[in-house]
Amino acid sequence: MNAASPHIDPPLAMLAELTYRCPLRCPYCSNPLEMTAASGDMDTGQWLGVIEEAADMGVLQIHFSGGEPTVRQDLEDMVGRAEVLGIYTNLITSGVLIDQARLEGLADRGLQHIQLSFQGTEEAGADRIGGFRGGHRKKLETARLAGEIGLPLTINAVMHRQNMDDLESMIQMAVDFGAKRLEVAHVQYYGWGLRNRAALVPTREQLEHATEIVEAARERLKGILVFDYVVPDYYARYPKSCMGGWGRQFLNVTPSGRVMPCHAAETIPDMTFDSVGERPLLDIWEQSEAFTRFRGTGWMPEPCRSCDRREIDWGGCRCQALALTGNAAATDPVCEKSPEHERIAALAAAEAAAGTDEFEYRRFGQGG
Ligand code: SF4
Ligand code: SF4
Repeated sequence: MNAASPHIDPPLAMLAELTYRCPLRCPYCSNPLEMTAASGDMDTGQWLGVIEEAADMGVLQIHFSGGEPTVRQDLEDMVGRAEVLGIYTNLITSGVLIDQARLEGLADRGLQHIQLSFQGTEEAGADRIGGFRGGHRKKLETARLAGEIGLPLTINAVMHRQNMDDLESMIQMAVDFGAKRLEVAHVQYYGWGLRNRAALVPTREQLEHATEIVEAARERLKGILVFDYVVPDYYARYPKSCMGGWGRQFLNVTPSGRVMPCHAAETIPDMTFDSVGERPLLDIWEQSEAFTRFRGTGWMPEPCRSCDRREIDWGGCRCQALALTGNAAATDPVCEKSPEHERIAALAAAEAAAGTDEFEYRRFGQGG
C-alpha cells in the first residue's frame, strides 16, 4: 500500500454499472470507446454477491448505472437486496425504458432516489443530442411519474456548447417537476466526450454566462432546489477533486465485474484491474495495484508534491492527465501550475471557436 495512506476507510459509495447496453447514443457518454456485448454482463447471482460484499465492507450507497440499468429485468432484485442490507439506493437512468408499473415496482422494492438525465429542454434538439427519437418525451413522462409516486428526483443536466441556451429552461423544468436537486454538469472530456470535444467544448464566455445563471438561480431557489455545479475544468485554475481522490471514496464495478477507482480508469494502459469473484472486494479496495497506485499523496510529482492544495484536489484527474499528456502520473494539465496548462486552455478556446457541430455518436458492439 502507498506509504502516504497506511489506513483507508471503506468506500462511501459503489457505482454498479449493470450493463453497457443503452438505447441512447450520447456523444459524451462516459462508457468506454470499445464496448462489445462479448465482454459479458454479470448475471443476477454474481451481482447479488457483489452487493453482499459491498455491505460487508461498509459501503453506504449504491448507484445503479450503466449504460441503461433498466435494460436489466433483474434490477428489482438488486435494489431489493441492497435495501435489505441497509444500503441507500439510487438509480441513474436515461428514463426512456421506464413505465409506471416498473417505477412503482422499483419503489416497492426500496429504491430511494432516481437521477434522471436530460439532453436539453427542446424536443428536437434533445433527441438529436441523445441520438434517440422520442427520448425527450419519454423522459418528461418518467420525471412526472417520479413526482406522482413520491420518489425523490435529481435532474442531471449535461451541458455543453450545443445546449447551453437551454440552461434557464432546464432549471425551470427541474422546479416544475418538484426535483429536489439539479446537477448542472458540463461535459467532462474523456471517453466519448474527449472524442467529441470539438463539438462540445463551450467558449469561455458561454461558461461564464452559465455560471452566472446557476449562481443567480441558486440564490433565488434557496430551499426549493439544490444545485450541484460541475464546470469543464479546461477553463478552471485548478482541477476538481476527481472522485474525491483516487481510491478514497468510490469504487466502480463494470458490467463484467472489473473493479476500478473511476469509470475511465480502464483508459490507463499499464494498469491491471481485479475482478469480483476472483479476489474479495475489500482486498481489491485496500490492496490492489489499481487502487493504491494513485491513492494519497505519495505518488505525486512536483508541483503537486509540495502544493498546499494536494489534499484538496488530490492532484486532479489521472485519466485526464493521461488523455492530455500521455502520462497518467503527470499533474493534471488543467491546473495552472502545470506546464501544459496554457496549451490546454488555448486548445479548448480554439476548438470552441471553430464551431464544429457534428457528433460522432456512441456506438455499442462495434468498438471505437
Ligand atoms: S450517457 Fe447517454 S448513451 Fe451513455 S449510458 Fe447515459 S444515456 Fe446511455
Ligand atoms: S499543483 Fe497539483 S495539487 Fe496543486 S493545485 Fe495543481 S493539481 Fe492540485
